[in-house]
Parts: sequence; C-alpha cells; structure tokens
Amino acid sequence: MSQDLYEMLGVARDADADTIKKAYRRLARQLHPDVNPDPETQERFKEVSHAYEVLSDPQKRAAYDRGGDAFGGMGGAGGFGQGAGFSFTDIMDAFFGGNAGQGGGRGPRPRTRRGQDALIRLEIELAEAAFGVTRELKVDTAVVCEACQGDGAAPGSKPVTCETCHGAGEVAHIQRSFLGEIRTLRPCAPCRGFGTIIPEPCRECAGDGRVRSRRSLTVKIPGGVDTGTRVQLSGQGEVGPGGGPAGDLFVEIQVAPHETFVRRGNTLHCTVTVPMTAAALGTTLQLPTLEADLAGEESEVETEFDLEIKPGTQSGTDQVLRGRGVPGLRQAARGDLVVTVIVETPSKLDARQEELLRELAAIRGEEAPTGSVSGTSKSVFGRLRDAFNH
Ligand SMILES: [Zn+2]
Ligand SMILES: [Zn+2]
Repeated sequence: MSQDLYEMLGVARDADADTIKKAYRRLARQLHPDVNPDPETQERFKEVSHAYEVLSDPQKRAAYDRGGDAFGGMGGAGGFGQGAGFSFTDIMDAFFGGNAGQGGGRGPRPRTRRGQDALIRLEIELAEAAFGVTRELKVDTAVVCEACQGDGAAPGSKPVTCETCHGAGEVAHIQRSFLGEIRTLRPCAPCRGFGTIIPEPCRECAGDGRVRSRRSLTVKIPGGVDTGTRVQLSGQGEVGPGGGPAGDLFVEIQVAPHETFVRRGNTLHCTVTVPMTAAALGTTLQLPTLEADLAGEESEVETEFDLEIKPGTQSGTDQVLRGRGVPGLRQAARGDLVVTVIVETPSKLDARQEELLRELAAIRGEEAPTGSVSGTSKSVFGRLRDAFNH
C-alpha cells in the first residue's frame, strides 16, 4: 500500500467529501467486478474502494493525513467490493437513489398473467392432409374459473391490499456498508410480491383463478399440410394464472400411411404391375385418384383416371402425371404423381402357353439368347433401392 490514497482516487489533498464521493462513483463504475472481471481490474477496484473507505470517513481520513494508513491496509476488512456481498446494482442503487417508488422499484407483480401454449397431435388420412378437413377435437386446458371470474377470491370476497408493503409488492431492506446505507428492494413475503392478499380463496380453483376443463373444438385443417405441420388456434391454449389471457393451441399433424400412395413432399408415388403381354402389346389401366378417398356416395369428384401403358413398356419405367399429386399449402401448385410400372413375367405355364411362347421365341430368334451384360443399366431393384435412399 505504498500508493497515495488521494492519487488513487485522482483527487486533490484538500478535496471535499462530495468530490471524493463523485470520484469514487466514477471509478467504481469502471472497475466493478460485475463490469470488468479481469484480475488486475479487480485488484484496482479493491484499492480504490479501500481508498474511498478511508477518505470518506472524517476520522480515518484525519488519521491518514497525520501519518499514513492507520487501519492496517487491505487485510482487515476482508476485501472490499468483492467479498462484501454488495452487487454492482446495489452500489449503483445506493448512489443513484434506488429508493422505493423512484426508478429502482418495479412495483407489484401482476396476479394475472398470460397462459401457456398447448399442443395436441392429430392423425389424419393422406387425402385429408392433401385437400383439407374439418375435425372435432377434444381439448383439455385450463379455463377461467366461473365461480370467481378469475380473481381467485371466494364469491362475495375480494383481494385486499397487503398491509406489509401497502400494495407495492416489495419492501426496502437496508444494509450498512462502507459506502453508507445501501437500500435494496425485495419482493414482499406475505403477499409474495403481488401487493394484494386473497383473504378467502375461491374453493373451486384454490385461488388460482382457473380450472381444468375438457371441451370440444372444431378445427379446420387446410389442404397441403404434412406430418409435423402445426395449425395455430389463437387464444385456445391454457388460460393464465389469475384468469389471464389464454395462450395458443397448436394442432400438430400426423399423416397416416396410405395403402396405395407414398408421399414425398407434394409428389405422390405408386407402383402398378402389368402382365408381360400387356407391357408388350400396350393397354389402358384405371388407376384410383387420391380424391377417391374423400368421395361420398353422390360426390362428383374424379375417382379414377386412365393410365396408358404404351406398347413395349419396360419394367421399372416411371410415368409422371402432372398435377395429380398433393396440393401445396396456400394454393401453391399441385404436385405430380409418379407411377412406376413393373412387368410381371408369367409363371406356371400350361402346355399350350409354353408352346406359344416357344413359337414366339423361335420367330424372334430368341431361342438361345446371349443376354446383354452391362454395368450401367439399372435393374428394378436398383431403382427401388434408389427410391428408398431418397
Ligand atoms: Zn375460482
Ligand atoms: Zn405485500
């Protein structure tokens, strides 16, 4: 402690109490560990705090002026600033007047708060996800307590102002420190910071202002949703404490697997299997539409459509049918349907069928085919594998 205490605070030897206080205030703001935690700064903060402790006390200052630091330097007081249990906010409050009702006070906390959002899951069919559906849901959330209208007080009674804090919700605590008195505000214990006390809590809700209830809700799911899409219903979630405004309800969609169509984004996929003869000669098949799932008895939606298999179609060929997939959300363009054609080789031939096929092979010069070997042509299984690895 060789350094001069006046120099440490940057004040003249004859500085008055106010000047010393201002100088310390300026330094404390720069050096406080909450602001500037590096060890060197903390060390300086301790020194500066010590200087202020001595120079702000007329007796200690006089003793220091008479011949140095008569109070044992740093050791005795156990480290200022750091270990004394005062936060930066406390110190600043002490300087800048964190008095009740002025600036520092936050006032009572409200009994009424917004409720939480709620989430429920809803499984729907693929066609419902594609074209939209309206469903009845059973929802279980907190609702406003009817007995007390949400204020938590038994009918005929009312919340009353807390006598301890007079409605402020907080009370001042005074700590003595080297800076003088430090005044801090703490939440009031008897009213738990609310500023009011419910002398006779409502029996229905035990003073919470809300009760659990199960109700039915009609939800309109728009077309184009997919697994994981959340439909938001404002104000249908949990009512808050004290009958506070309800949060939102989110309905999370889960789309059930379809027996024919596999969905990837807005594209639908399906597979048709045709006999070898049809693949060779060509044919027209009827395929079901996705809309067919929604069709009622008298509905006019298209339930089937023609799929043309061209003569000579190879196994594994994809046909892309524009606009027969899933509609996008918000009227975005409808996706495609991709139909993979698989050619089935006849088995269990009777004598006559075998005779005909041998004759055909002879005419086509295919009695002893060499086969064609290549490394690049994709087998059906290769295509399927690719599809699964998408
Ligand atoms: Zn109630
Ligand atoms: Zn109180």
